[in-house]
Amino acid sequence: MSAQQFSFNMVVEPPPPEMPRCSMCPRPLHRRPIPPHGPIPCRVLFLGEAPHVDEDKEGIPFCGKTGQEVNNVYLPILGLPRSEVLVFNACACSQGNYDNPTPEQAYACSAVHLGPLLMRAQPEVIVAMGAVCCSLFGKWNLNYEHGIPQFGQWGPWQGVVWPTYHPTAGIHSTAYMIPLMNDFRGLRKFLEAVG
Ligand code: SF4
Repeated sequence: MSAQQFSFNMVVEPPPPEMPRCSMCPRPLHRRPIPPHGPIPCRVLFLGEAPHVDEDKEGIPFCGKTGQEVNNVYLPILGLPRSEVLVFNACACSQGNYDNPTPEQAYACSAVHLGPLLMRAQPEVIVAMGAVCCSLFGKWNLNYEHGIPQFGQWGPWQGVVWPTYHPTAGIHSTAYMIPLMNDFRGLRKFLEAVG
């Protein structure tokens, strides 16, 4: 699959399950790519790590349990409806056992798909969720640098990257949920301050 064949439309039309793998894809036994979901252009892009079971089934990123957590907990704190946020993953496909992608896999997939999306969407802020996603933009220690806006660059795109934990971690532990909530509070203040 080439970058040209991967459609970044606002209307979610999942690609066919038999779509061939990208020629350079390092993910073994991957499933179909799940396209971005949300407005293009956008002010804020949520970038996760990879689709999971529900996302594979529905063809929409962040539509399962973690997506519900984002919709019900973090978006209200941020003060934006889901319809105003573009959502995508560093790896557009899950793989057989739903393992988290490696930084190398996230980089390889993003090298094909993230750049064209950013050129079209021109987000002011990318919320980088989880250490693998953050590794695309910088060598940050999430334990110390979550919720601190960073200068980010991906190809010609430049803007703010907002590092935070992956929301799945918040489902499993309040030790992550509380900092996640604080990070989204901080992002709300940031967006209000820059207008
Ligand atoms: S993970 Fe990314 S690079 Fe690999 S086949 Fe899916 S869309 Fe292509």
